[in-house]
Amino acid sequence: MTSGTTLEDLERRAAEQRAKPAYGHDALISCDQLVRIFRTDGVEVQALQGLDLLVAEGELLALVGASGSGKSTLLGILAGLDVPTAGTATVAGFDLLAMDARARLRYRREVVGFVWQQTARNLLPYLTAAQNVVLPMQLSEGGGGRHARRRRVAFAEDLLGLLGLAHCRDRRPQQMSGGEQQRAAIAVALANSPAVILADEPTGELDSATAEQIFAAFRTANEELGTTIVIVTHDQAVATQVRRTVAIRDGRMASEVVRRTEVDASGQERVVAREYAAVDRTGRLQLPQQYTEALDIRERVVLDLEEDHIRVTPDRENGT
Ligand code: ADP
Ligand code: MG
Repeated sequence: MTSGTTLEDLERRAAEQRAKPAYGHDALISCDQLVRIFRTDGVEVQALQGLDLLVAEGELLALVGASGSGKSTLLGILAGLDVPTAGTATVAGFDLLAMDARARLRYRREVVGFVWQQTARNLLPYLTAAQNVVLPMQLSEGGGGRHARRRRVAFAEDLLGLLGLAHCRDRRPQQMSGGEQQRAAIAVALANSPAVILADEPTGELDSATAEQIFAAFRTANEELGTTIVIVTHDQAVATQVRRTVAIRDGRMASEVVRRTEVDASGQERVVAREYAAVDRTGRLQLPQQYTEALDIRERVVLDLEEDHIRVTPDRENGT
């Protein structure tokens, strides 16, 4: 991080970046060869090992992966709470490696909203739902006059209404169900009209019926407000609720599933899911474990370039 960088510098640089077409130039979130190494007591953990990810404006994306695969590390970086060891990451034109403290604060308050798994972490217990939603606006705008206060309260009520929480306006968190608290947390995250909402296992503490309501709330925010949303989840049912699900494995993007609605010959609409393997910028590709196990592929394969595809054949001469 360059400490001498001013907000004006960042904004000028962001404008320059936007002006030239580069990798991910039209993406809202762009991670390029992102690396995060943690060192504790001489032990090194590579939580992210050259992760590439592009997210377009307006997407609702699910991020899945085994425990320890680097999902929370990635969200922490995108939230501006943590700084990567190497690589680049930009969100809405903000360079996450180059922000000074002031830009970082503004970024966290106004550009991203966050929803944590622990409902208790998202809301202040002594404030009502409406007061919780007003608070982020107050923090970024300052006090203002009666007019500003009234506008903030009105917007908070709009957000609560949009997420089906009008009845919770004057309730404190402990007077609300877990699902209502998490939906209020989404309203809080939306308070400053952020470009992106990041959610780390937001339904981890909830039953599946309640989890469905939370996803409906995220979808509403995505569709009605156009907010780009990235949700980390363990919930397999989620995959069927979003268009794009990206799987992370060992700190890298491994594969993704994209769902499309297609109309067949008889005019019937149906959802078609297609799985893709990620190819990084240097051409690296990870074969799915089921494939390598099914064909007993180890160490190396033979690649043949055909007219419109690449053939991958196990190396039988290797004596495996
Ligand atoms: P996930 O959210 O996918 O379960 P994490 O991003 O939390 O995975 O962790 C990825 C790896 O990085 C794990 O091996 C974890 O132990 C390690 N890790 C995460 N945060 C820290 C930290 N602050 N210090 C040391 N190691 C960490
Ligand atoms: Mg995690």
